[in-house]
Amino acid sequence: MESKYIFVTGGVTSSLGKGIIAASMAKLLQCRGLRVTIQKFDPYINVDPGTLNPYEHGECYVTEDGAETDLDLGHYERFLNVFTSQANNVTTGRIYKTVIEKEREGAYLGKTVQIVPHITDEIKNRMRLLGKTGQYDVIITEIGGTVGDIESLPYVEAVRQLQWELPESDCMVVHLTLIPYLSAAGELKTKPTQHSVRALQQNGVHPDVIVCRSERPVPDDMRRKIAMFCNVRPEAVVISPDAKSIYQVPILMHQQGLDSIIAVHFKIPLPPANLTQWNNYLQRLFNPKHEVDIALVGKYVELQDAYKSILESFIHAGAANSCKVHVHTVHSEHITADNVAQQLKDMDGVLVAPGFGSRGLEGKIEAIRYARENNVPFFGICLGMQMAVIEYARNVVGWADANSAEVTADTKHAVIDMMEEQKRITLKGGTMRLGAYPCKLKDGSLAQHIYGKTEITERHRHRYELNNNFAADLEKAGLVISGTNPVSNLAEIVELPTHPFFIGVQFHPELKSTPENPQPIFVKFVAKSLENRKKR
Ligand code: GLN
Repeated sequence: MESKYIFVTGGVTSSLGKGIIAASMAKLLQCRGLRVTIQKFDPYINVDPGTLNPYEHGECYVTEDGAETDLDLGHYERFLNVFTSQANNVTTGRIYKTVIEKEREGAYLGKTVQIVPHITDEIKNRMRLLGKTGQYDVIITEIGGTVGDIESLPYVEAVRQLQWELPESDCMVVHLTLIPYLSAAGELKTKPTQHSVRALQQNGVHPDVIVCRSERPVPDDMRRKIAMFCNVRPEAVVISPDAKSIYQVPILMHQQGLDSIIAVHFKIPLPPANLTQWNNYLQRLFNPKHEVDIALVGKYVELQDAYKSILESFIHAGAANSCKVHVHTVHSEHITADNVAQQLKDMDGVLVAPGFGSRGLEGKIEAIRYARENNVPFFGICLGMQMAVIEYARNVVGWADANSAEVTADTKHAVIDMMEEQKRITLKGGTMRLGAYPCKLKDGSLAQHIYGKTEITERHRHRYELNNNFAADLEKAGLVISGTNPVSNLAEIVELPTHPFFIGVQFHPELKSTPENPQPIFVKFVAKSLENRKKR
């Protein structure tokens, strides 16, 4: 049987948290026994966000099957504790690419290829793709952008068509808007919501539920007014207040009966929501017994979304340790040998972030040196691991010119080099080593101790690797390669047994951390940082 569909659109402004609302609805339906997945349709022309600078669109999230996707997919996985895939993120670029390729194949038999019906048909196909697999009861589709944008129009049109084509009880539209508070007037204002619902209705789509973001409590008569002006039942106007944590949003939605509204619309009898596990997590999250200060050394510090999954992983790992983790972003470009001690002296642990290009690398290396020499727990991710190898090669092995081939071709000691298969690649999009790969852990290593097993899989996104020509010398000098790919022998984890906690990983463990399944390296790193704090 085909799934039921919920479409989530947004109005008034971006950044209202459509992804969190979509994920929260999905969580509630999951807690009521349904199999749910969420997909995101993004109205930009890039085929995927892999080629986007973090300044443009925040972190690029990578799925198990190696898709470079929007960071909202990270929220979907974190809330649902279920993996997504390439099929869960579609962009206008991908839609047009498919349609244009079909046109070149002659698939349209001489017809004029147009936005309606050809682009909208392709959008609809993609919207229903996962729904036809039989794996899900409900598919939630988040439409990126806001209603009224030129770019969003084909998506809104596709939703209009589906709202007609599908039985009423199989399709729902949830519209997210803003109720701003005007302090000069001392009032909440509903007009922007009315306008944005009108824009949606002008495109032929009628919302079944309106979720209103508001920083202030919304009185009942205002809810009724919105319901009246916007053609929905009063109980279908749901308020989404500012929450202490995004993970509280499912509970806030449940308190207003959002999951029941959906169940009634879909005409499916559902057991009550079992939120015990989620509430237990919130309980731990909101009642920490300890605190810890961790430096996140990277070059996108002014940008929350650039390290989204890392920040979320700390929230999960903190809760697992009953500990509030204060993450302090430290700009790697501002770290020097002279100021590193000053900059990191109050930190209980140091994480060096992933990244691309040479900007800020020397600062990262100084931060690692400081952590290594001062027994401060250290965790390096991807580029952070590569810099740890360079730091060790320079300062312990004694190769002063050690570097990464990403920075310079001009060194005898390219301890980080381009992966062999990458050397033939010229296209930039979707060509890195991407997605889940297995990794064998060395017996008796810290990594094996952390994971509690000998083989793991984690997700990757990189072009460079530890150059195995130098592995023997690095190991002789005390660096342990504790995780390797069983097929290619690529080094995936390095560690220092003489240090209280020093680990660098070539993969991105932050992509698999969820409240219900906190990532073990993050959990241990927080625990060790806490230990360090108590000693200090
Ligand atoms: N720039 C490095 C590489 O391509 C690291 C990538 C990353 O940190 N994701 O290998």
